[in-house]
Amino acid sequence: MPIHTTLNKFDQVRRRLLTALTGGALTGVSALAVKQAAAATGAVESPGLPANALADLDRKGMQLIITGSGSALPDPLRGGASCAVVVDGTVLQFDCGRRVLENLMLVGINPMKIDHMFFTHMHFDHISDYDYYAITNWIAGRQEMVQVYGPAGTERMSEGAIQYMHAMNVDFIGTILKHWPPHMARRPRTTPPYEVHDIGPGTALETDSFKVSCLETKHLPDPSVKSLGYRVDSDYGSVAISGDTAVSEGMKTLAKDVDILVHECVKPDLGMTPGGKFSLKDFHKEELMEERPQTGHTSPTQLGRLASEVNAKKLVAYHLAPYTSVPAAIEMSSMYLGPSPGHSIWGEFVHAMKQQYDGPVILAEDRMIFDLDK
Ligand SMILES: [Zn+2]
Ligand SMILES: [Zn+2]
Repeated sequence: MPIHTTLNKFDQVRRRLLTALTGGALTGVSALAVKQAAAATGAVESPGLPANALADLDRKGMQLIITGSGSALPDPLRGGASCAVVVDGTVLQFDCGRRVLENLMLVGINPMKIDHMFFTHMHFDHISDYDYYAITNWIAGRQEMVQVYGPAGTERMSEGAIQYMHAMNVDFIGTILKHWPPHMARRPRTTPPYEVHDIGPGTALETDSFKVSCLETKHLPDPSVKSLGYRVDSDYGSVAISGDTAVSEGMKTLAKDVDILVHECVKPDLGMTPGGKFSLKDFHKEELMEERPQTGHTSPTQLGRLASEVNAKKLVAYHLAPYTSVPAAIEMSSMYLGPSPGHSIWGEFVHAMKQQYDGPVILAEDRMIFDLDK
C-alpha cells in the first residue's frame, strides 16, 4: 500500500477515535487514551508522532490552535507564545516564536498555508522563528504573497530578518535559481513572498468571512514602542489574543463578550513562587511602573478578574513560564522564577482565576485545538 494511503487511513482512524473519545471537542486528549483506543482497532501509532488532534483546512468553520504556550526563555516542553486561527481554511498566524512551524506541522498544517501573519510586538520570543519561516517558506516554493502585519517596527524587523540576517541565503537562493530549470513546478520566486505592513489600532484586515481588529496593549516600558492585541470575528465566533500585556484597556475592549479569550499569564500572584524577581512585592506594584519601568504582564488573579469583567465565554491562559519544565529550563529562568514551586503552582493558577471568573479556564498546552463552531 502506498505510504500516503496508509497515512490517510491512519488519519481517518485517528480522527474517528478522537471524535469518539471527546464527543467532537478535539482538546485535552491524552496520548495514552488515543494509543489504547488505536490499539483496540488495530491502528498503529507512528513512533515519535505525538497523538494529537488534527486541524482541518478543508472544512467550513473556525478553529483556534495553540502553536506555542510558553514564555520568553527556552522551554523544551512549550513553544513560544503564539496561536493560529483558521476560518474556512484561511490560516491567520499570531506571532512566530519558537516551534511555531513544527507545531503547525504536528496538527497537520503545512506552514506554507499561512495566509496572513500578525505580530503582537517585537520581543524575541514572539519573532524568533520568523526568519526561519521566511526563508524556508520562500525556498519551498510559496508563490502567493503572505501578508504580514504588526506594530511599528515590523517592517524593519522583517527586512532585517531576511535581507540582513540571511543576506547570504538570499544570495544563495538567487544563485541556485539561475541554474534551475525555468519551468520547474513551484520554482521559488526571485524575491521573497512577503508584503509587510506596520499597522496601528483599528481594523487590520477584513474579508467576506472574517475581520481582524487590533488595539494597543500595555506591555513595553517605552510608550513610543507599541504592542498590539487582536480580535478575530467571523460568523462562527470570536477569539481575542493578548500577546504580552499587563491588564489593559485595549484587551478589555477587544475581549468584550468574546467566545475565547487567549491571554498571557506569565506573572504569578504574589506569594505563589518562593524566589526570583516574580516573587518581589515591588514587581506587583503597578504604581511603581513609571519610576521603575518594567515590562507589563498579567497574573492569574488579574486575568480571572479581566475575563469576568469582559464576559468572556472561555478563558485560555498562555505564555506560561517553565515552572515545572526540565531542570535546565528552570535553572535558566531562575532569575525570574526562583526555584521550582512544583506542579501545585498550576492548581494555584487555575484556582486564582476561578476565584474571579465563573467560565471555563484552560491552561494552554502546545497544539491544543478549539472548534468555535460546535
Ligand atoms: Zn513574550
Ligand atoms: Zn514581550
